[in-house]
Amino acid sequence: MVKHSSRIELKQSALKANINFIKKKIGKKAIFSSVVKANAYGHGIESFVPMAEKAGVHHFSVASSFEAEEVLNACHEKSQIMIMGIIYEEDIPWAIENNIEFFVYNYDRLPITLEAAKKVGKPAKVHIEVETGANRTGMPAEEFPKAISFLKKNKEHIVFQGLCTHFGGAESLSNQFKIDKQKAKYKEFLKICKDKKFEPNIRHIACSAAALAMPDTVYDLVRVGVAQYGFWPSPDIYYHHLQETDKKSDGALKRIFSWKTDIMDIRDVPEGDFIGYGTAFQASHKMKIAVMPLGYSNGYPRALSNRGYVLISGKKAPIVGLINMNLFMVDITHIPEAKVGDEVVLIGRQKNNVINVSSFTNSTQLLNNEMLSRLPSAIPRTIVK
Ligand SMILES: *Cc1c(COP(=O)(O)O)cnc(C)c1O
Repeated sequence: MVKHSSRIELKQSALKANINFIKKKIGKKAIFSSVVKANAYGHGIESFVPMAEKAGVHHFSVASSFEAEEVLNACHEKSQIMIMGIIYEEDIPWAIENNIEFFVYNYDRLPITLEAAKKVGKPAKVHIEVETGANRTGMPAEEFPKAISFLKKNKEHIVFQGLCTHFGGAESLSNQFKIDKQKAKYKEFLKICKDKKFEPNIRHIACSAAALAMPDTVYDLVRVGVAQYGFWPSPDIYYHHLQETDKKSDGALKRIFSWKTDIMDIRDVPEGDFIGYGTAFQASHKMKIAVMPLGYSNGYPRALSNRGYVLISGKKAPIVGLINMNLFMVDITHIPEAKVGDEVVLIGRQKNNVINVSSFTNSTQLLNNEMLSRLPSAIPRTIVK
C-alpha cells in the first residue's frame, strides 16, 4: 500500500490514564459509555474502539446508524453500541438484529419499533430521550405517559433499556441555572415511571462536563466524549477540578493524539521573492523553506496561513504564505540541520516543544472538537504505547 501524506498516532497509555481518571471521578457503579461519534472525535473509530476496549470500556455511543456500523465492524462482540441520534426507519430492523440500542425521541417511533421487533423476532432495546430544556431532540412531557403505557404493554417486544436526556451546555458555569432546571425536569420524568410502576433498566444524563463536575448527574451510565480524548470540556470544569482537589495544576487528562508528516522538499528563496500563491508572503531576506505535503483538503485549516507553525528538529517553523489545497510552506532558515524526509509534527510533541490542538485552534476560531472531527478519515491512524 502506498503512503498517505500525513499520519495520526494514538497513545494507548494516555487513553488508559484518561479513562482511569474519569472512572475514579464517577465511581465504580456507573457504566462508562465511550462517545465515539464523528469518527471518535477525529481519532478514528477503527483504531480507537479496540484501544478503549483494551482500557476496559465495553459500551460505545454514536450519533447515527452509519457510525454504529463502523463501531460494529471494529468492536468486540461483547461490547454494547448505543445510537443517540439518527436512525432511519428502514435501519431499525438492522439495529435490533445486531443488538444495538437506540434513542427514541418521539412517540411515533414506538409503534414502528414494535413492528420491526416483531418482524425480526427479537426485542428492541430503546432509550427514551426526554425533553428537559435543551429543545434539541427529546420526547415532550405530553407524550411521555402514553409512551410509558405503550412500553409497558409491549414489554416482550421492546425493552425499556434507558431513560435519558442531554444538557444544553453543562461545561459552562454560567449555564448552571439552565442545567439545574434540566436536572429537576428529568427527575419529574423518573417519578412518572415510578408512579406507573414501570422503570427503565438504566438512567443517564451526564456528558463529560457533568460527569467531571456534577456527581448528582452520574446515575447508571455516563456518556463521555471529549474528556476521554484528553481535553477538559472547558476552563470552568478544569478550575472546578483544581478547587475540588486543592491543586494548582493537574495533567490528569492527557492528549492521546498527535499528527505528523515529513518534509517533502527544501529550497532557497531569494530576498524579495514571493512564496506560493499570490503575494501573501514576501521574503524579506534570503530564506530556506521546507515544503509540507498536505493542505486544507487534508484537514489543515487554511486560517493558519501566515500564522501557524510546525515542529521540525524540535524547533518551531513558522508557516509562510497560504495553506494550499495539498501543500504549504514553512520557514526553516533557523533550522539548518533539517533535511528532506525529516519528521514534522503538526500537532503534538517533538523534543521540548509542543503544539496543542488548542494553540492550533485559538488562532482559527475553530472549536477543538470541530478541528478534530474534520480530520479526514483517510489519514492513517496508528497506535503507539
Ligand atoms: C456528544 C454527546 C455526548 C458527549 O459529550 P462530551 O461533552 O463530548 O462528553 C453525550 N451525550 C450526547 C447525547 C451527545 O450528543
